Amino acid sequence: MSWLDKFTPDCMEKDISAYPPQFFLNKSIDRVVFDLDNTIAPYDKALPDEKAIAYIRSLQGAGIEVMLVSNNEKERVDVFNEGLGLFAVHKAGKPGIKGIQACLEQSKNKGKAAFVGDQIFTDCLAARRAGLPCFLVDPIQPKESLFFKLKRLGEKPFVRRYKRKAAKNRQ
Ligand SMILES: [Mg+2]
Repeated sequence: MSWLDKFTPDCMEKDISAYPPQFFLNKSIDRVVFDLDNTIAPYDKALPDEKAIAYIRSLQGAGIEVMLVSNNEKERVDVFNEGLGLFAVHKAGKPGIKGIQACLEQSKNKGKAAFVGDQIFTDCLAARRAGLPCFLVDPIQPKESLFFKLKRLGEKPFVRRYKRKAAKNRQ
C-alpha cells in the first residue's frame, strides 16, 4: 500500500446511515470500530440520539459487533456509552493504533473488521495502519476553528483522490 492509500478512505458518505448492516455483511465484515465525535454524534451532545442508538442496535441485531475508539476524555466516552454498553476506548491517540488493537483483541467476532470515522489524518490513517478498511462520513458538525479549517484544507487532495478512484471503479 502506498503512503497515499493510507490517507484515502474506501468510502465517503454523508453519514453513518449510508452504512447499514447489509453494507458490512456484503463485505463479510462482522465487527466495526467507530469513532465517536462527529461520526456518531456532535461534540456537544453528551448522549447518543435515537437515530444513532437505532443504527447501532441494527448492526448488533445483524450480528455485527460495534466498538468505539475515541481520542476524547474518559468522562465524555463513559457518559456517551453508558446506555449503549459498547466496548470503548478513550484517549486512543489516533492515528496511533492501540485503541483499534484493543478492540480487535477483545472482540468475540473474529471475522473481517472495519473502521468508520470522519477524519482522514486521524481515523483513516489509524485504520489503515491497523490494516482495516476505512469508511468515512462527513463530520456532523464541522468545527470552525482555524486549526480545523486548516486540517480540512489538508484533507482536500485526499478527498479528491478518493473521488477519482471511486469514479474509476464505477466505470
Ligand atoms: Mg471524529
